[in-house]
Amino acid sequence: MTPSRIARRATALAVCALGATAAAASAAAPVAPGPATSLPTSTGSAAKPQPMPATIAPRHPFMAANPFSNIHNDAWMTDAYQQAGPLGRKLQATSGATKPSLCGSLAFDKAGHIVSVCPSAFAPPQARVFDPKTLDVIATYDMPDAPNPAGTKFFHSLDDGEISLVLLFSGTTFARGEAGLSVAPVAWHEEASYRLPVGVYWAEDKGGGWAPHNPELYRLPDLVPEPSRLDELTAAYAFPPESPYDTFIKSPKKQMCCFPPIVQYQGELITQTLDSEPIGQDEVTDLLYINYKAPDYTGHVYNMDDPREEDVLAAVDREIGALADDLRRRYGDGRFVLIVTADHGQCPLIDQNGGVRIDPIQLEADINDEFGTSVFRLVQSVAPSEVYFDPRALADAGLTLEDVAAFLGDYRYGENIGPYIRPAAISKGHLTDPTFAAVLPTTFIADLAERDLGPYGVTDYREADPYGIAQVTW
Ligand SMILES: [Zn+2]
Repeated sequence: MTPSRIARRATALAVCALGATAAAASAAAPVAPGPATSLPTSTGSAAKPQPMPATIAPRHPFMAANPFSNIHNDAWMTDAYQQAGPLGRKLQATSGATKPSLCGSLAFDKAGHIVSVCPSAFAPPQARVFDPKTLDVIATYDMPDAPNPAGTKFFHSLDDGEISLVLLFSGTTFARGEAGLSVAPVAWHEEASYRLPVGVYWAEDKGGGWAPHNPELYRLPDLVPEPSRLDELTAAYAFPPESPYDTFIKSPKKQMCCFPPIVQYQGELITQTLDSEPIGQDEVTDLLYINYKAPDYTGHVYNMDDPREEDVLAAVDREIGALADDLRRRYGDGRFVLIVTADHGQCPLIDQNGGVRIDPIQLEADINDEFGTSVFRLVQSVAPSEVYFDPRALADAGLTLEDVAAFLGDYRYGENIGPYIRPAAISKGHLTDPTFAAVLPTTFIADLAERDLGPYGVTDYREADPYGIAQVTW
């Protein structure tokens, strides 16, 4: 909007405002003047408007049009007005007195009424709707008395993860209904209350204990096992001998990361959640999502070939078995679905398994030396087991993944020895060996789904995959 258009609109609005002032003067009684002060009534002189381009916030669907939407102009609270402010010409102050109270929070409904909550030292906070021109109070609603500061209950309605919202303005609730999720508007004069969903994590960063992920969105289940229960389980567990990687869990916060007691304790949390929450008690399907984190954590800290990994995997295995039995006992076959899915696998540690270290920086440099003719960066990332390429760079250089795979298939360990490899870490007996046992382009892997895999040996493990190999969907 150009400044001249802003100015024109401002003029039009100023006329309206004058009309409003005139009407107000004839309505609500003015606020009684306070005690005399030594300050002058007013200072300064009339000012010239200097309009400037403003941020234009979208209109809030349930509130009055900007700039009358809110005490701060719009729902974005920009305070950037597209109308003139008082310029000091023929200023006239008006006010409307109401019962002793402080109506500080001002909002405007769609019809332009002023809506406010007015706390008072003498009476319960009262929600009021005002006529914007006469400042007459046209509707009131006494709120339940609120803790100090008075009247803030509406704005601080979260208490220990519970919401008991007194909705004084029209709002929307999401709740469990007869046919699944129900969404219902709540009129301004009605009350609605609901409970937050359950969401729990082990608060390692806070020194342990169960906590809701985000107390504004989740709460703890009504029953959780006592912290002393974890001490009991830990005391009964024979910890394995020391490992050089214990150093990564030295902080007391992390000590529970990788051992069966925390898995058992999590199992007891799940049982108590099922005991205390209304799961499976109506026709609406409930969702309980569980992450048995310990095997992942243990693998990252100790590696998959450490006996600790076996221990926590066995503990999770027992817990999943116990959970399946528990669900069957509580709800009966056919009344629940238990879906088990995995995170990721891991390679054994190379140092303990006769492997050699590969330098990803040197690998990228060697690929670029061989193929890097494109203006795009060819190699996007080198991970221990994967190399990612920019398809634009491949196309630009006339390359295929098969070309690069053929090069890497013949890439020797000695070629990968670059400036970042410490001399002591070089495996001198392997310098002329191929670096990789196999280098497979993703096109080849995708193609396998359609092929006869007989030549590759046994590929069909019926017991593990009763439905066969899943269809490739990418
Ligand atoms: Zn992981």
